[in-house]
Amino acid sequence: MSLLIVGTVAFDAVETPHGKVGRMLGGAATYSAVAASFFAPVRLLSVVGEDFTHRDHAVFRGRPIDTRGLERAKGRSFFWSGRYTPDMNDRVTLETQLNVLAEFDPRLPEHYRDSPFVFLSNLQPSVQHGVLRQMRRKPRLVALDTMNYWIEGALSDLRVVLRRVQVLLINDAEARQLSGRHNLLEAAERIQAMGPRALVIKRGEHGAILVRGRRIFSVPGMPLRRVFDPTGAGDSFAGGFLGVLAASGRLDESALRRAMIYGSVMGSFAVEKFGLERLRRLTRKQIRERARQFQQLTRFEL
Ligand code: AMP
Repeated sequence: MSLLIVGTVAFDAVETPHGKVGRMLGGAATYSAVAASFFAPVRLLSVVGEDFTHRDHAVFRGRPIDTRGLERAKGRSFFWSGRYTPDMNDRVTLETQLNVLAEFDPRLPEHYRDSPFVFLSNLQPSVQHGVLRQMRRKPRLVALDTMNYWIEGALSDLRVVLRRVQVLLINDAEARQLSGRHNLLEAAERIQAMGPRALVIKRGEHGAILVRGRRIFSVPGMPLRRVFDPTGAGDSFAGGFLGVLAASGRLDESALRRAMIYGSVMGSFAVEKFGLERLRRLTRKQIRERARQFQQLTRFEL
């Protein structure tokens, strides 16, 4: 089944202990769409500026990603720059330039409006909500990702759209910020009261947890020898998670647990190289192998 993804297509400047890149293709929707496209057909909705070239567009070509909803506007594309801490578990945003995103008021192409799976990835909560309002029928699943920038700058809009979301994917710091609670289970409880029945809390190298009511499922982070750039790990996780759900069309507990594994698999690949480099060269065989490694990593008897 098709997965509609709305979010940023951007240029990023990133500094990690392994190096510095002044400008590379990035954006939450770019990472999510590429990751999800290994599993299910994707419909991409976003905006880019005049600086986005045919070469940049190549990242979507040859994959089942419909880009008829990728608008081109006058001006520059969204730009973000960030610096990671030496342990790479944290980062600071140095600059966020909304550019063409500031005026983005998307009109969904007709054929996007019946998408059964919808991922409102990171961008203005008001735009996320606008997308839902244009759907012809209620999607089977609506998932949302956000970050500190919007929690700080657009909290009331975020609260409105959260009421219409079933799965919220955020990182641990954002869960604490949104809920005002440090303990992650307490944070999850508070956030569930805001709308989403299920919460996926991404914890960087420590893995991720899925909380649904009182049910909890935890996935470890894949121990990796090389971590070059954590940028896009969360978005790639989300792409893998939702791509797998859209592919199977199932939303039961075992489907969600399986999706958590594939989310972790895609996140673990994303960090191995700078930007989208690793995902661009990824094969299905490598995905299958890493999923098996996850199975080995967590198998035990009592
Ligand atoms: P992640 O590392 O998965 O949290 O996502 C990093 C990506 O999010 C980068 O490629 C950025 O272009 C994009 N990004 C950064 N800040 C924002 C924001 N405020 N809204 C939407 N996307 C953003």
